[in-house]
Amino acid sequence: MRYDLIVIGAGAAGLSAAVAGALHGTVALVEAEALGGGYVRRDVPAAFWHRVAGPLYGARCLLDGPMRPGDELTFAALAAQRDAAVRAWRVRAERILAEMGVEILYGRGRVLAPGLVGVDGGAGEILLVGENIIVATGTYCRSGCGGGRMVALEEALALRALPCSAVVAGSDAPARTLALVLAVWGIPVHLVAEGEGVAAVRRLLEGAGVRVHAGAVTGICEDEAGVTVRLPDGTCLRADVAVVDVPGVPATAGLGLEELGVAVAPGGTIAVNARMETSVPGVFAAGRAAGAPSTQTAVWEGLVAAYNACGWPLVLRAEAAADMDITPFDAAGFYGIVSVDFGMPS
Ligand SMILES: Cc1cc2nc3c(=O)[nH]c(=O)nc-3n(C[C@H](O)[C@H](O)[C@H](O)COP(=O)(O)OP(=O)(O)OC[C@H]3O[C@@H](n4cnc5c(N)ncnc54)[C@H](O)[C@@H]3O)c2cc1C
Repeated sequence: MRYDLIVIGAGAAGLSAAVAGALHGTVALVEAEALGGGYVRRDVPAAFWHRVAGPLYGARCLLDGPMRPGDELTFAALAAQRDAAVRAWRVRAERILAEMGVEILYGRGRVLAPGLVGVDGGAGEILLVGENIIVATGTYCRSGCGGGRMVALEEALALRALPCSAVVAGSDAPARTLALVLAVWGIPVHLVAEGEGVAAVRRLLEGAGVRVHAGAVTGICEDEAGVTVRLPDGTCLRADVAVVDVPGVPATAGLGLEELGVAVAPGGTIAVNARMETSVPGVFAAGRAAGAPSTQTAVWEGLVAAYNACGWPLVLRAEAAADMDITPFDAAGFYGIVSVDFGMPS
């Protein structure tokens, strides 16, 4: 099979690259797991909880106490709604990509040579030939979270049952939202956050029952009965689970990049220039695999990589990318060429 562009990885960067690439030619999008990557595991559930957190807190105030297991509105029911929103997102994404002519191939991709990608979907490797390749394989979770009582923020946003108590370590909006949602159900919650906004976060969340601590976690110990989270001032917080927001490791090993001569930094990040070109012509990289710090930057990088791969020289201005809020499917709409209403779940 021959394509103008082959994109490996269907997270925020890969989706925007595929959407932008489809405006100019034929695109294959290779995904090892599920469409959306971290954007759908993290940003979509966080947006769901963000929408319900306010009304839930209001309901809790009216009830004059925490939500109770017997209440009509249960955590499990909301978790099911959240999961339905995630599934609906993926179904709509598949439909929109199909309408745009993007061919989705499920399997693990690797770059065999410039212009040649192997895809292993479990039934032997198939070969794809393409003019250009974009690697957008994101990050994977470090070992040490993703099981037991230490839970990655992405996993906590996907919880189906409430813990007895929690320490949430994280400074951005998904961590704050999670802490508020747990507190609404009367779960004892500590939020450990860094940065200038901690005082404002404390004012907002402490009324809802979240105990806010400024600083960074210095250590976490896990035992059979729970976790102990240590803070810089020596305070030890005890809880059922600790939710941590770890940066993850670039998912670039085993892709064949080093064999090909693509420059990769010691930590695994693919080296790119402002056009998202790697050191090997015809091979581009975008998103967290190339060091993008946020979803917005990942989306812009995917867009810039696709435009350059299609022969339209675009340069990414990092400061602009950080400022503009954008979702993967806005990438095409940005240019006014197509208009896709594809935002957060409603
Ligand atoms: C710990 C953590 C902290 C974060 N913090 C922030 C933050 O502060 N602000 C913010 O805006 N966003 C944050 N994010 C969100 C992150 O920026 C988004 O996940 C963003 O969407 C990254 O997009 P991506 O496309 O680069 O990678 P991902 O979303 O990781 O997508 C990569 C995709 O590639 C697939 N893949 C991997 N290897 C292969 C292969 N060999 N073949 C085929 N497919 C493959 C994966 O299955 C995945 O679907 C954070 C995410 C994490 C995990």
